[in-house]
Amino acid sequence: MKIGQIKCPCCGNVQPLTEQANGLAIMSCNWCNVKVQAYGKDADTALRRMAGISQVKQEPEKAPEVVPEKKPNPAGVRDEGGIFGRLNNLLSEAA
Ligand SMILES: [Zn+2]
Repeated sequence: MKIGQIKCPCCGNVQPLTEQANGLAIMSCNWCNVKVQAYGKDADTALRRMAGISQVKQEPEKAPEVVPEKKPNPAGVRDEGGIFGRLNNLLSEAA
């Protein structure tokens, strides 16, 4: 079954890339009689990539890191009931 086209690494002619019965890619060049056969996933992926086929697991593009929105710091909010609030009240009373 033809799945794409790749340039023959031997003679440079564009040849059909086909799928073997085991699902792995193979290219037989009719010009120079060379055969490029994938015997494993890595070779299969590489051959398909050469053919511009990206149906093999596409690596997701790295998304820019999501910077969490800065939330108002609750610690920065004056707690009038806290020690500083009370001090502040005392100071303003003294003034
Ligand atoms: Zn060739």
